[in-house]
Amino acid sequence: MARTITLKYDGTCRDCGAELLAGTLARYYGRGRIYGTECHEDTRPDPALNADHVIAAARESTFGLGSEGICRACGESQDGVEPDASGCECEACGAHAVCGAEELLFEL
Ligand SMILES: [Zn+2]
Ligand SMILES: [Zn+2]
Repeated sequence: MARTITLKYDGTCRDCGAELLAGTLARYYGRGRIYGTECHEDTRPDPALNADHVIAAARESTFGLGSEGICRACGESQDGVEPDASGCECEACGAHAVCGAEELLFEL
C-alpha cells in the first residue's frame, strides 16, 4: 500500500516523469516507486480487482448458479462468464479484459 512520505532525496514521478524535489510530499509504493502528489492529475482508478468482490463471485460460481466475471480494466461485473474464462469483452468499457471469477482468484 502507498504511504505518503516527505522525500529525503530528489526523485522522479513514476507516473508523469516530473522531478520531485527533496522535501516535497510523494506517495511511496516501495523501493524506487514514488509518485508525486501534485505533479499530475490522479487519474489512476482504484484497483479494478476488489478481493472481496472476486471471492464473492467465485463462491457464487462454485456453489451457486452464478457465472459472474469481472472486468480487470474497469472492475464491472458481468454475467454469463465461464469461471475460467479470460479476455472476454466487457459490456461496460469494451476492453477484452473480463475474466471468470475463479481465474481472478489466482491473482489475488
Ligand atoms: Zn506525476
Ligand atoms: Zn470493463
